[in-house]
Amino acid sequence: MSSTLRFHVVGEAFEKRPVEVPNREDRPSEFFAKYVFTRQKMLQYLPADVYAKMCDVMDNGTKLDMATANAVAEGMKKWAMQLGATHCTHWFQPLTEGTAEKHDGFVEHDGKGGMVEEFTGKELVQQEPDASSFPSGGIRSTFEARGYSAWDPASPVFVIGDTLMIPTVFISYTGEALDYKAPLKKSLHAVSRAATDVCHYFYPDVKKVVANLGWEQEYFLVDAGLYAARPDLLMTGRTLMGHDSAKNQQMDDHYFGSIPERVASFMKDLEIQALELGIPCKTRHNEVAPNQFELAPIFEEMNLAVDHNMLIMSLMHRVARKHGFRCLLHEKPFAGINGSGKHNNWSLSTDTGVLLHAPGKSSMENLRFITFMVETLMAVYRHNGLLKASIISATNAHRLGANEAPPAIISSFLGKQLTDLLQKLEETDADDLLNLAGKKSLHLDIPQIPELLLDNTDRNRTSPFAFTGNRFEFRAVGSQANCAAAMIVLNTAVAEALTDFKERVDALVAGGMEKFKAILQVVRQDIKTCKPIHFEGNGYSDEWRCEAERRGLDVENSAPLMLDNYVRPQTIEMFERMHVLSKAELEARLEIKQETYTKKIQIEARVLGDLCLNHIVPVATRYQSQLIDNVHKVKEIFPAETADKLSANNLSLIQQISEHSSYITEHVERLVDARKVANNIPDVRLKAIAYHDTVAPLLESIRSHADKLELIVDDELWPLPKYRELLFIR
Ligand code: ADP
Ligand code: MG
Repeated sequence: MSSTLRFHVVGEAFEKRPVEVPNREDRPSEFFAKYVFTRQKMLQYLPADVYAKMCDVMDNGTKLDMATANAVAEGMKKWAMQLGATHCTHWFQPLTEGTAEKHDGFVEHDGKGGMVEEFTGKELVQQEPDASSFPSGGIRSTFEARGYSAWDPASPVFVIGDTLMIPTVFISYTGEALDYKAPLKKSLHAVSRAATDVCHYFYPDVKKVVANLGWEQEYFLVDAGLYAARPDLLMTGRTLMGHDSAKNQQMDDHYFGSIPERVASFMKDLEIQALELGIPCKTRHNEVAPNQFELAPIFEEMNLAVDHNMLIMSLMHRVARKHGFRCLLHEKPFAGINGSGKHNNWSLSTDTGVLLHAPGKSSMENLRFITFMVETLMAVYRHNGLLKASIISATNAHRLGANEAPPAIISSFLGKQLTDLLQKLEETDADDLLNLAGKKSLHLDIPQIPELLLDNTDRNRTSPFAFTGNRFEFRAVGSQANCAAAMIVLNTAVAEALTDFKERVDALVAGGMEKFKAILQVVRQDIKTCKPIHFEGNGYSDEWRCEAERRGLDVENSAPLMLDNYVRPQTIEMFERMHVLSKAELEARLEIKQETYTKKIQIEARVLGDLCLNHIVPVATRYQSQLIDNVHKVKEIFPAETADKLSANNLSLIQQISEHSSYITEHVERLVDARKVANNIPDVRLKAIAYHDTVAPLLESIRSHADKLELIVDDELWPLPKYRELLFIR
């Protein structure tokens, strides 16, 4: 880009596009889920017996027979065509980021030379996309490329534009999961089963436990014109260079500030479209960094919540373009200011209430609360390394451990009241406590927890896994990740912990111990066991790192090494025992994650090399020539001694430019060499490690010299939009 073009682009961005405020007369209650085939619409479009069968399928997971599927498809088609749909697609979540779709028209020959609109049960239930190009981690070699997508009736179909979208799982010919949804559903089943069993100790009437997810999505908006003038944003989603602007987030004036007009109209448009698709958007606000924002819906059953998060991410990209913005979901688009995460608020609830809520009406209810609380901590403790592996990526690695919430060590924050309570439980003598005949209350002041907890505003922002009243908040998840990756691990680990818990309690009961006494005894054991995961202090401090290591927590900082947790014996054992993922599936997932890591750094290295050699160094050299020219001219008109004095500053700049430019050129060469060496490593894991150890650090050091040049070179010549423009034009 020529220098004049940069000014042109910035100027245009600054003038801003006209703000188009979406205007609606009707209220959210009227247009909510307008484009979703909800139960209400099923009732309207399906025969009564078909509707009843569908409810059984959705609620109890009974098998769908072809006759019912055909009848459902017929009703769906009628509804979708009234909304203008002409196509349908199976919509799935392959092991890339994002979703996949392949559209088929509702058309079929009518046998008389014409066409009819057709959509059959078979098309609804199962399809076979030729999906040989999706990552499968070696599960499916290309000559056997068949992958099947199968309808997930638990997540309702919806219409976008002219297409009926059908949420599906994606599996290989041999039955292995090739996506996030299939194992997510299995993990939900596992945690539901285990939690229901444990729940029956306390409430024999509970039918079912479900896991909920309330995600909070952070993102940046950047003017579309400026974005287009940054090859790094375009290719990698983040800025690979760019000096801090004089002002960034130090004034804390963006956080919760009033929302700029063009952004507000984007948000409104996004919310309306999301609500129409049944996503219960609730909260919006400015985030900490300039041009950073957050959106959060009301929490939902997890399978649906994950689908909704995938949907909102693609919606955000689409709506942003309409408003002259580009939406950045990258975890760290800009150095030196906050990155973006996706807090995953996780909880369990029954058909009668939330399980992690402390009610305090009776000792039994309090014991139920403590049981689920402690077993969740057990799960996080046992699999803290795996949880970290589930959220690490080349992009999220910029956030974790980079002195920004959260650190690269998983620990859990509980707040003072809960900490005191657990300590009391642990320390009090068993016989003292267990005067548990019938409904008599515990000799613990457990009934007094709730009042205390409700006021518990003591929030520790440095904790990656914090208890926040009636849920745990997993804050380390990356902003562009599929929430399912982390939730699969958490659900399965909790399922395992609850299963183990029940086995131990049952064994004590079988030996003649009273039930509540047995529960309390096992809980007390577990409080002791999982103690190392509990940390109330400052997660950013250096002392914590040493302390965590002493406690045996995973303190690994290198992303490719963190990923090893996917195939540790205890991981494989847990996933196989809970029937969520097999060893082969875990190995495949690991390989995909390693390959993705390598490819991301590889692309960044190529883009940085191009930017340096074709944009930055030539411009710096041009500016340097101007300075040299000036030095010569000064010499022509002034006596030598005066000329030397007058040119001292320029001479120093000429030298600095030379130094930075040659550093850059030389290190870009090293970068290419490091890549060559790494690319020749056949082992996927070792290749990722080489990229981490030898390629990634060069990106940082080259960048620092390019950023220095940005400060030296004439602003008029600088080819890339600067941070101040990317972050403050809105
Ligand atoms: P904060 O930023 O203070 O953490 P937000 O209001 O932005 O809070 O987001 C909280 C999220 O947690 C919302 O999505 C909300 O629906 C969700 N949430 C609230 N209660 C629960 C619960 N019991 N289980 C799961 N998610 C919950
Ligand atoms: Mg939160």
